[in-house]
Amino acid sequence: MNAAPRPRPGVRDVEPYVSPQLDVAARLNANECPHPLPQGFFEDLARAARELPLNRYPDGQMVRLRGEIGLHHGHPFDGTWTANGSNEVLTELLLAYGGPGRTATVFEPTYSLHRRLSWLTHTEIRPHPLSSSFVLDDPAVDVALAEDADVLFVCSPNNPTGNAQPVDAVARLATESDALIVVDEAYIEFGGESALKLVADHPNLAVVRTFSKAFAMAGARIGYVLTSPDVVSDLQRVRLPYHMSALTQAAGVAAIRHAAAAMALLEPIRLQRDRLVSELGGMRGVTVYPSDANFVLFVPPDDAGELWQALLDRGILIRDLRDVVPNALRVTAGADHEVDLFLASLREVLPT
Ligand code: PMP
Repeated sequence: MNAAPRPRPGVRDVEPYVSPQLDVAARLNANECPHPLPQGFFEDLARAARELPLNRYPDGQMVRLRGEIGLHHGHPFDGTWTANGSNEVLTELLLAYGGPGRTATVFEPTYSLHRRLSWLTHTEIRPHPLSSSFVLDDPAVDVALAEDADVLFVCSPNNPTGNAQPVDAVARLATESDALIVVDEAYIEFGGESALKLVADHPNLAVVRTFSKAFAMAGARIGYVLTSPDVVSDLQRVRLPYHMSALTQAAGVAAIRHAAAAMALLEPIRLQRDRLVSELGGMRGVTVYPSDANFVLFVPPDDAGELWQALLDRGILIRDLRDVVPNALRVTAGADHEVDLFLASLREVLPT
């Protein structure tokens, strides 16, 4: 028998990305939208799907989807690009602007995929700490600028801390550096100021968005970037042929048509988020961080791992973030009844 194949060096040093998907009463671990899009969306999607010529390859330029997204944001078509989730957009950006011998700066704690995708694309990672309140402040910007990286990541609102970053900091990075500045705005519809208005004057700025959160479409895997035509033309060179299926493109076009219904879900989610911040803030020994997103980061008084398990035993799945922020947990702003259940269970298990 042959020996098992040897993977690329380092592959076995990395754990697979796993986020538990359990059938529990309250799934509050992945920052999904707790409500589905209205029935009209599914009818439009079914109609569109029936008419798709699936014997042919899909539109390799994603013309309708890019056009609808561009229109939605008042952004030019040739500066708009889509992929299967914003994770794939980030990967394509790194394939084009990172790579062997090139560097990417991240401000941590932040979304762990920025680091992981840099590794995946052989881009050397340069991590810097955010301030103690997780804000991207002037000293952090100064340090990053001095380093002359090829790619700079900003996450705003930042996952997992929840705070939006000042647009002025992004403007400084985009003005004073010729790196590709990637602003991951996966949660921007929930709060914070977008850097999108800077894109017209800064061809090195790429604002990355997703349908997975505010658009209530995590299952469809659609992300996009609003940037300059030059960046899009580079992404064309690294993308896989026909990377977005016709079904996915059709789902995106239908979702954009129902964008108003998705946006109507934002306010109830923000209310649950604010409720989480205020209720957690009132619990003895709990540190809670302010949030502009659809989730809340908190540090319990005792062992977070035990608390995570105790909540799971009661049917509530939240996110264990101890490897990112010491003893921290993150809870998604879900539906009212899910947040009720979370808060009631937490009161039961926290020490009084
Ligand atoms: N960016 C951030 C900050 C995220 O939190 C997530 C999802 N957890 C993503 C990007 C990826 O989203 P998707 O690939 O579903 O668009």
